[in-house]
Amino acid sequence: MQYVIMDLEWNNTYAKKTSGFINEIIEIGAVKTDEKLNTIDTFSCIVRSQIGRKLRGSVKKLTNLTNDDISSGVPFAKAFSIFRKWMGEEETVIMTWGDSDIRVLIENYSYFAGINSVPFLEKYCDLQRYYQRVKQRRADQQAGLITAAQEVGIDPELYTHHRALGDSLLTTDIFELIYDENVLRKEIVTCDEEYYARLLFKAKVLKNIDNPMIDKKRLEHYCDACGKQCELVTPWKFSCQYFRAVFHCDSCDTTYAVKVRFKKLYDRVDYKKVVTVVTPESEEEEDDDE
Ligand SMILES: [Zn+2]
Repeated sequence: MQYVIMDLEWNNTYAKKTSGFINEIIEIGAVKTDEKLNTIDTFSCIVRSQIGRKLRGSVKKLTNLTNDDISSGVPFAKAFSIFRKWMGEEETVIMTWGDSDIRVLIENYSYFAGINSVPFLEKYCDLQRYYQRVKQRRADQQAGLITAAQEVGIDPELYTHHRALGDSLLTTDIFELIYDENVLRKEIVTCDEEYYARLLFKAKVLKNIDNPMIDKKRLEHYCDACGKQCELVTPWKFSCQYFRAVFHCDSCDTTYAVKVRFKKLYDRVDYKKVVTVVTPESEEEEDDDE
């Protein structure tokens, strides 16, 4: 088994064919290591842009790539065919920092080859997620590559940042320093149908209060002061992602403005509730500010 730590650079550009914006890949960088993380080889390739002729100013600044560079590169299909040959036949775990490179790769394969998957992706590990697990942080505490480098004591200035190979080398060095076999084993996923379904799933806010996915218990409110169940004063109304209603506690004579949001994720419904006490002053102010 081997690891391929990959990084991509891309240029956001308008595609006539799909009448929408696409992140066109302009550079591939990768480091191949053996199971003990010894570097076997590195890979670097500029991809010739076929959709956007010009780089965005921000991309030029970030990568130092020029329009000449990307027009002299190798076209997408050829570039990834060279990359796959470079990967070789050995069982490979592809690794990237965060999953956006994989999303962009799917977007590009979909545009150029009409497939919604990555042909050479069999096993995958999101090193940003892995890093969070090793550091035992919450799911929403994501560290960028530079922050992570600083946290593990690497000087990111020594790498060519925002170039595909430079970022892959930096990612590889971070990975070496935080290597944890047990965590890693759990973070390597098989890229089957479910993997893609989960990755490409678009979270949706539920707008219909009668939706069976909405837990009706979540639409009750208990007084923050005395704990008694409050009375619903106004019917639930949906606006700006939230169902909103006013509740009243008869014992405390307190009025609450309650808003709840239900978001359908791949395998669960995310629930968020915000409560504010309504005072005579706040009532005078016009409605909600959101
Ligand atoms: Zn009360």
